[in-house]
Amino acid sequence: MTSTNLNHTSASVAIVGAGLSGLCLAQYLRRNGIDAQVYERDAAPFARRQGYRITVDADGLGALRASLPADLYDLAVAVAGRSGGYFRFMNQRLREAFKLSFEETEDGERQMDRQVLRSVLLSGLEDRVHYGRKATAIETENDANRLRFEDGTSVTARVVIAADGIGSALRDQILPGGGPEDTGMAGIYGRTPLVQDDERVLPAELDRSGVLALGDAPGRAVFFTTMAFGQHPKTAFAGRDMPALDIDDYVMWGVVMPQADIPAGTAWNDAPALQRLARDAAAKYHPVVRRLIANADPEATMLSRFAVGRRPGPWAVPNAAVMGDAVHAMPPFGAHGGNTALRDAALLGAKLVAAFAAGGSTGAVGDALAAYREEMIPYAFKAVDTAEGMMRRLTGSKGVQKWVMLRLLPSLHRPVVPAA
Ligand SMILES: Cc1cc2nc3c(=O)[nH]c(=O)nc-3n(C[C@H](O)[C@H](O)[C@H](O)COP(=O)(O)OP(=O)(O)OC[C@H]3O[C@@H](n4cnc5c(N)ncnc54)[C@H](O)[C@@H]3O)c2cc1C
Repeated sequence: MTSTNLNHTSASVAIVGAGLSGLCLAQYLRRNGIDAQVYERDAAPFARRQGYRITVDADGLGALRASLPADLYDLAVAVAGRSGGYFRFMNQRLREAFKLSFEETEDGERQMDRQVLRSVLLSGLEDRVHYGRKATAIETENDANRLRFEDGTSVTARVVIAADGIGSALRDQILPGGGPEDTGMAGIYGRTPLVQDDERVLPAELDRSGVLALGDAPGRAVFFTTMAFGQHPKTAFAGRDMPALDIDDYVMWGVVMPQADIPAGTAWNDAPALQRLARDAAAKYHPVVRRLIANADPEATMLSRFAVGRRPGPWAVPNAAVMGDAVHAMPPFGAHGGNTALRDAALLGAKLVAAFAAGGSTGAVGDALAAYREEMIPYAFKAVDTAEGMMRRLTGSKGVQKWVMLRLLPSLHRPVVPAA
């Protein structure tokens, strides 16, 4: 084992995973003069095409504001889509059961593309993010932790934070038995350019709408929403040392189904197979939905198996903690996963900054990590419970409830979209 082929051998805080929470924490610590290094398993920043949009709410925006330099926060918000519009619950023929309205406000939630947000979060951290470093284990050595990587290299750090997502490699060590529970449900996600051959793929009636269209078959639903950039990322990033992301407005869609309906062994990124599955699953939907799936960006389709995190006990490794999906995985109902992960990052950042300001003794750092856990559990697991409850209600097969949502309520409203 060696640490010689890393360009440094130690850090105050080693963060595992350059996803939303890991980068946000690194920004927070950098802003407060603390040495933080990020270790990412992927070979490059955008090695996987997770090109979906996320709704960033007041919690997420507050965390970004607390962590990013002001100019980068302003940039993220300038590129983001505006708040305001509708969330429509419909049946598979796109007849509406009911809708929720959201007013546009200056500081209201924003629609952000994940790649754009990660580009902003990476800005200024270029020399602190180390790619191709798949963490495998932590070993405690006196007052420090040694973080080991799959390639045989290692680093030492005062503190190790696992921000390595739902499949966390470090969770079993820091939280023995704390892995998430499978829900038996899954989503196939894709994106489709909003304008194709000069025509918009969605009818104007669905502009500024998120739609959850419940299927007739048990556990089936389709979700879609538009990512319309406030400012094109290419224009907004011009003149900055940032990747030239050439992404135009798109519609993000997700096809929800029981995992039992997905052939065993289907890889999360087998886009052609997933697109075929999604197309078949939506065969009886309104043509608008079928067109969205048929015209999707061929490489951007991916599979996510929904799981729910378990409330964590005390951290079992001294001076180590877990944040984001690695500790509180949740199904993507209600758009809380990323927001909660960002909130963790700002909270944990504040605790660590205070502990280092107070001398950074092992006791002070341990207390900070314990305080973060105690404050995180209530808000994070409220979000987990809400997301799981929403998923069960909306994809469940309770006869009367389903009949009301799919037949009765839609029959009482004028069609939003012309019938097929
Ligand atoms: C289609 C879709 C739509 C969503 N929409 C929303 C939304 O609207 N609002 C919302 O709040 N949330 C949303 N989410 C959820 C949100 O994306 C996640 O909750 C969020 O990304 C979690 O952040 P994280 O930092 O915990 O993990 P991630 O962002 O998943 O990052 C984990 C990182 O760790 C790396 N990694 C993994 N293992 C290792 C290892 N062993 N060593 C080193 N690195 C490793 C990974 O490569 C990755 O870069 C959505 C999710 C999906 C799939």
